[in-house]
Order: sequence, then structure tokens, then C-alpha cells
Amino acid sequence: MKVLVINCGSSSLKYQLIDSDNEKAMAVGICERIGQDVSYLKHTPDGGEKVVIETTMKNHEDAIQMVLDALTNEKYGVIKSLDEIGAVGHRVVHGGEKFATSTLINEEVIKAIEECNDLAPLHNPANLIGIRACANLMKGVPMVAVFDTAFHQTMPPKAYLYGLPHEYYNSYKIRKYGFHGTSHSYVSKRAAEFCGLDINNSKIIVCHLGNGASISAVLNGKSVDTSMGFTPLAGLVMGTRSGDIDPSIIDFIAKKENKTIDQIMNLLNKESGVQGMSEVSSDFRDINAAMDSGNEKARSAFEVFVYRVAKYIGGYVAAMNGVDAIAFTAGVGENDHKVREDVCAYLGYLGVSIDLEKNKARGEEVMLTTPDSKVKVCIIPTNEELAIARETVALL
Ligand code: AMP
Repeated sequence: MKVLVINCGSSSLKYQLIDSDNEKAMAVGICERIGQDVSYLKHTPDGGEKVVIETTMKNHEDAIQMVLDALTNEKYGVIKSLDEIGAVGHRVVHGGEKFATSTLINEEVIKAIEECNDLAPLHNPANLIGIRACANLMKGVPMVAVFDTAFHQTMPPKAYLYGLPHEYYNSYKIRKYGFHGTSHSYVSKRAAEFCGLDINNSKIIVCHLGNGASISAVLNGKSVDTSMGFTPLAGLVMGTRSGDIDPSIIDFIAKKENKTIDQIMNLLNKESGVQGMSEVSSDFRDINAAMDSGNEKARSAFEVFVYRVAKYIGGYVAAMNGVDAIAFTAGVGENDHKVREDVCAYLGYLGVSIDLEKNKARGEEVMLTTPDSKVKVCIIPTNEELAIARETVALL
């Protein structure tokens, strides 16, 4: 079956058409600047050249129409007719406590996703616009919602409750939800296979280190804890997000600089993390280059990032009373050998021993540890689109 995977943001829409029989992406692309005067469609058919089309997309329905036209285009299309698309898989950021698994979309599900809008005001409304646009243009094609939060719904209350008065959980469902669930699910399963573990009897820690970053503890195939929280701001230091801080800092800055809560939240989400600390960049390639030329702030940001990762790993080893395998994934985890080397340097107490030659690998499945290492450490490239396509096919 051919599955169209859609990841809809407020002004962009990423897509892949995946053939589930061979699990290959037939085409990948993105619509950018939707709703602005000039919008772009960037479309790359498998094995072909990237095509960039400048146009105007008033809204997401226009964008989806452009995507469907590109997929069936005579020159750079990959299918003859839209009838070939058997299903659409939508990434939905927040499923609250309502969705612990992926779900076939109907009116009732759309309403339930809408009810989660409060929890992800920047993301869920955009995801819903994409769902509605596809429903209008692809009548009768089954659609599935795959939630970023669903995989973490197996966390026990001791992991997801905050130390707040209980009424805040009762009234507003303030709790840890966790994100990147599709990636943590995909990578933990693949890591178990790759390391020769029985997923039902395994302790795996997944380090999803990208521009956004989170770590999860996966016990017997189920997420039992994760570093992001009520929102994706919590946990690790990220590209531009602060991760965990003392909440009193918000009040302190507000008073010192006469800033509003919105301004401070913007600071914590967009101007902090590795970028804010280094005053260089949010990108680890730039951080590495700056460190090589002796930039101390870049070094310090790098060290804080690595130290936080190592501490979360230690916490999750405690939570699971051990660990069999640790998997690195996403942009930094798959590509930055120095991050992996420095994180693993903290893990000698677990009997982790990595092979520095193997650790030079990038973006491929590789076992990084020596044969005598007590814990296996590997790179498992994530593939959220494929995971969404698999979930979609499994549900149908
Ligand atoms: P993601 O959010 O998973 O797409 O990851 C994006 C991030 O991966 C970038 O901001 C970089 O920090 C990092 N990254 C990508 N390629 C490399 C590389 N070759 N070396 C180090 N970091 C990289």
C-alpha cells in the first residue's frame, strides 16, 4: 500500500509518499511559507532531482493540492493517479491522555484532538488543519493520526506527576506527557533487534538528540519515563530550548527586566539552550568548529549539554534497575561522534566501553561498544515517517 505521511506545521507541511511493501520513500517534500505572498513547494522524487516550485498557497488545502499535483505530475511525479494512495498518516503532536495509540480518524477523533489544543496551542491546530484539508481533497481515503505523546502514555503516575497540588492534574491535566514518541518507539524496537534483545525482556535507553532533544527509559518495550514534560521545553538542554531550570528564574527575570511571561517563555524556547549559552549557534557543527578554534563559551555549552544527557541516562538506569542497551538517534545523536564519546565517558561505572574507531560512524546503524562492554551502545537512525506509515498500515 502507498501511504502519504503528512506532518503539518503552522506555515509548513512536510510529506513523504511511502510504499509500505518495500518501506521506501517514493517522494519527499515540503511546502514552506503557507499563507504568505510567496510560498514554495520542494519536491524530490526517489532517485530524481529536487524540484522547487514558487507559487502562492493561501492555506493548507492549497498546499495539499500542490503536493497531490506534484505526486501525479508527468515529469517528476511518482504515481499515475491519486487512487494509488491507500491511506494518509498524520503526525499529531498532542494526544493528551485520550490517545495511548494511533487512531483511525473520524469526526469524533477530530473533536477529541481539538480538545487537546490547549495542551499544544502551536501544533495541534495546525495538525488539524492538515487533517481537514486532506479529508476535503481525498474523500474516502482512510486517515490515521499518530501522536507524539502516545508512546509515553505507559508511564506510571510516579513518573508523570509533578509536585504540584493535585487539583492542577485533576482540573487541567497538568502532568508529564513526553514527546518524540514515534521516534522513541521506532528506535527502541530497532535497537532491541539490532542488539539481539527480546524487546519483552529488555531495558533500553533512547537518546533522541536533535535540535529538540529527549531521552526515554523503555522497559520491556514500554516507555516508563522520558525527559520532556508537560511541553517539549523540559529536560535536556537543546538547540535553543533551556530544558530543566529552576522555575523561580522566570519570576526573577520578569522582575529584573520587566518582561512578560510570554517574553520569558519565548526566551526559554527560542533564545536559550546551546545557542544562548554559546552565543554561537544552535547547530552542533558550528559548536564543534567554535570549540576547535578555542571558543570557551561554545565548549561550556557543549559540556553542559553532554553532562545533562549523562545525568538523565544515570537516572533512567536507576528507574529501570539496569540497562541493556543505549541508542543514540536524531541529528546530533547520529552524527556527532564527540557528543557520543563524551557521554559514554561518564558511563564507565556501567561497564560501557566504546570502540573509538566505530564511533566515527555517522547516520547508520552501528554497534559502538567493544565485545566486552557490559552495556551495548549503538547508533540507530530514526525514521519517524516510516514509523507513521507502519502504524497507519497496521491500523488498517
Ligand atoms: P534534527 O532536529 O534531528 O534534524 O537535528 C538537527 C541538528 O543535528 C542540527 O541542528 C545539528 O546540531 C545536528 N547535526 C546535523 N548534522 C550534524 C553533523 N554532521 N555533526 C554534528 N551535528 C550535526
